[in-house]
Amino acid sequence: MRLGIAQKLSGVFLLGVALFAVSISTAYIVMGDLSNTIDESSKLSRKVNLIGNLQLSLNKLVIPVAEYISYGDKGERDHYDKLIMEVSVNLEELKQQKGDAKWDEVLSTVSNDSVKLGEMIVDILYMDNPVGNKAAAQLMKKVYEFSERVIGEAERFHRLTIEEMKRMEEAAKAKRRKANTAFAFILIIAGIALPLFSLYLSRYVTRPLLALHKGVGAIGEGRLDHRIDIKTGDEIEALAEKFNNMAVSLEDAKKELDRRLLELYTLYNVSKVLNTTFETEQLLVRLVRDISKNLDIHRVMIMLLDERTQELYSASFTGFEKEGLKEVRRKIGEGLYGLVVQTGTGRLIKDVDSELGLAKVDILSPDIRSILAVPFGRRDRTLGLLCAFKDRPGTFEWYDLEFFRAVSEQVGVALENARLYLETKLQAITDGLTGLYNHRFFRERLEIEIERTGRYNHSLSLIMLDVDHFKHYNDTHGHPRGDELLRELADLLQKSIRKADLACRYGGEEFALILPETGKETAVSLAERIRKAISEHPFPFRETQPLGTLTVSIGVSTFPTDNKEIDGLIKKADDALYRAKSEGRNKVVGA
Ligand code: GH3
Ligand code: MG
Ligand code: MG
Repeated sequence: MRLGIAQKLSGVFLLGVALFAVSISTAYIVMGDLSNTIDESSKLSRKVNLIGNLQLSLNKLVIPVAEYISYGDKGERDHYDKLIMEVSVNLEELKQQKGDAKWDEVLSTVSNDSVKLGEMIVDILYMDNPVGNKAAAQLMKKVYEFSERVIGEAERFHRLTIEEMKRMEEAAKAKRRKANTAFAFILIIAGIALPLFSLYLSRYVTRPLLALHKGVGAIGEGRLDHRIDIKTGDEIEALAEKFNNMAVSLEDAKKELDRRLLELYTLYNVSKVLNTTFETEQLLVRLVRDISKNLDIHRVMIMLLDERTQELYSASFTGFEKEGLKEVRRKIGEGLYGLVVQTGTGRLIKDVDSELGLAKVDILSPDIRSILAVPFGRRDRTLGLLCAFKDRPGTFEWYDLEFFRAVSEQVGVALENARLYLETKLQAITDGLTGLYNHRFFRERLEIEIERTGRYNHSLSLIMLDVDHFKHYNDTHGHPRGDELLRELADLLQKSIRKADLACRYGGEEFALILPETGKETAVSLAERIRKAISEHPFPFRETQPLGTLTVSIGVSTFPTDNKEIDGLIKKADDALYRAKSEGRNKVVGA
């Protein structure tokens, strides 16, 4: 049975009232009984009084008649009348007292015999000469004897009363014992009931209320994991349940808030990284590291799409040290990562074990249990994808996917910015027509290289190259064809040099090559190789040139032997080139 708090309280109250009522009525009954006993005993003492008076007056009754026989005084008759009156008054009063059958019998015997005694006394009192009268004396003897009998009967009366008194005393004792028992019983009941009541109230009212109070305090202090355990089956339990539900909601809300905050913080960090560097490689390394650290995700990977091969490759990753992962490559549409890029939609794999169609090779570590993969790009162009891996299943949620989309978007923007930056930077130092470095960059680099070479006491060579009779080519085939030829020539030059060398367009149809760590001899032979290669290269309409093919004249100067200054070194190469021209062109001249 489930009792409400009001029922519990009124139940305890009613039980208390009942206990009180039982105590009071028991006391009332016991008191009533006692006052009855007192009444009875006062009646009995009245009886004893009356009997004593009767005995006294019966004893005195023979006195007047004895006087009369001795002295013959008729005044004794009045004396007797008074005494007999006393006796009859006593008897009358005794008759009014209640008694049992024995009492009634004794009373009637005493009463009848008293009348008889009176008659016998009156007979003597009304003799004319009683003194010395034999008959009177004889009658007097009988009066004495009868008087003794009546007094004896009255004495029986007395004994009866005494017996009754004894009985009453016994009864009173029994009643007192009963009253004592009743009071002891009430005391025991109260002694047990009152602690039980207070225990009950404490168990069902006080303690639960205190627990509620404590719970509210805990929530107030921000301890949202606090729960109240109350099993009272009443409104307090219902209240505690509602309280617990509220605490759960609050805790959930706080978790959600914390998660959001962490996401915002991560996003902030990510965008901070994205804004600090335009170096793509450095940017990607810092990105995976920051995402991993902020979101406490052990493994993170960024894959980029190689525009040339149309292949995805792992541009940056963290957490794969144990696996010794070197590189991941996928074609577009191939496996999980290839498909994410092909479809342009992110994938959330909550548990790799229950994901059908997931290739084993795409689970990059045996520890990985859930995967998140989100593509990123700019303006309809997918640039790559961001992947996060966790060791436990079910740890990624839809909101993580949403969040990673936001991060990916940032990554896409940043990569695009980095690309634009590189492009702009490249534009500033390259020549638009040939793609070689421009004059400004040539001077900058030459200065740096001279400084460095001088520091290490090494040598550096400079090749200056000019197309022979280029005006003729332009005039014959038009300016655009001339441009075309310059582009082809630039490609040829680029292919002829080492990685450490630098090919620049010096201006017009003049080119310069910076050859670090190169002496005069090597430089001249390289120049010779280039000159030969150009004269043999099948440029369009080369046969229309005055020398029968397309040729170049080359001047070579070397640092530090020819000159130690940039302008001097350039001038030396220029002079050599001028000499090559004047010596008939298609020629290499060393300074
Ligand atoms: P030389 O053998 O003495 O060097 O004869 P040349 O005709 O090459 O020398 P010149 O300095 O007289 O002529 C250079 C020509 O190169 C003049 C100019 O029209 C042409 N030229 C310079 N820059 C460009 C260019 O960017 N595109 C084209 N198509 N022609 C250019
Ligand atoms: Mg020229
Ligand atoms: Mg020329």
